Amino acid sequence: MNARGNLFIVSAPSGAGKSSLISALLKNNPQDKQVSVSHTTRPPRPGEENGVHYHFVATEEFKTLIADNAFFEWAEVFGNYYGTSKHVIEQTLAKGVDVFLDIDWQGGEQVKKIMPEAISIFILPPSRTELARRLTGRGQDAQEVINKRMAQAVSEMSHYNQYDFLIINDDFDTALTQFETIIASQRLTCASQSHAQNDMIVDLLAE
Ligand code: GDP
Ligand code: ADP
Ligand code: 5GP
Repeated sequence: MNARGNLFIVSAPSGAGKSSLISALLKNNPQDKQVSVSHTTRPPRPGEENGVHYHFVATEEFKTLIADNAFFEWAEVFGNYYGTSKHVIEQTLAKGVDVFLDIDWQGGEQVKKIMPEAISIFILPPSRTELARRLTGRGQDAQEVINKRMAQAVSEMSHYNQYDFLIINDDFDTALTQFETIIASQRLTCASQSHAQNDMIVDLLAE
């Protein structure tokens, strides 16, 4: 019997490495994990595909989706709208698949209110200099966009202590191992195990 999947909220200042960590995790465990593809009004970066990285929509369409109550959560980040659609999350968790939300702290706060059992993870860079280096090194955003994101970084980072777990993404492989450890541990809680191992436990405890 499959336990219901866990919902993970992953937040970090832009450039700290959350997209890289989530993709590395999914590459190693594609069968029982899925990232939620958000809707956004920001323009695609070079190489970003509609429906894969984001559902890219016009502001009018985004507002219609808000009015239709289609979002689990949504927020305005760096002057654009971002939102998580509702139905995909529920369907995927019900199949026993873990779902990862790459969302900002405002979205994280909303999700924790709706689903307190969601597990939240914050990722910090080792220093501000390194964060600036990564944002520039990614080479996908205009200088003006990078400046805006750096200016917002301290404000985003100041929310780290609202999260259940904190990872410092200095050495990537160490951070990935820590990320995988948190996720694996959530499959081993008593609640999760008693559901997944129900038949065996019934046998063990039979009179
Ligand atoms: P990157 O994650 O820094 O590479 O930049 P993005 O442009 O992909 O994301 C911009 C911001 O929007 C980040 O703070 C994300 O965490 C946030 N974000 C992305 N998707 C969502 C979402 O569905 N909901 C919320 N609340 N925030 C999101
Ligand atoms: P985010 O999704 O948080 O904005 P990304 O995953 O896009 O961040 O990472 C930003 C840049 O930093 C990318 O070019 C990525 O390859 C690089 N990066 C991520 N983690 C590390 C690390 N531990 N050491 C060095 N570079 C990293
Ligand atoms: P980017 O534009 O670099 O892809 O994302 C910028 C920020 O928006 C990141 O911090 C990312 O986590 C956040 N973000 C992306 N999608 C969503 C979303 O659906 N909801 C919220 N609240 N934030 C999002």
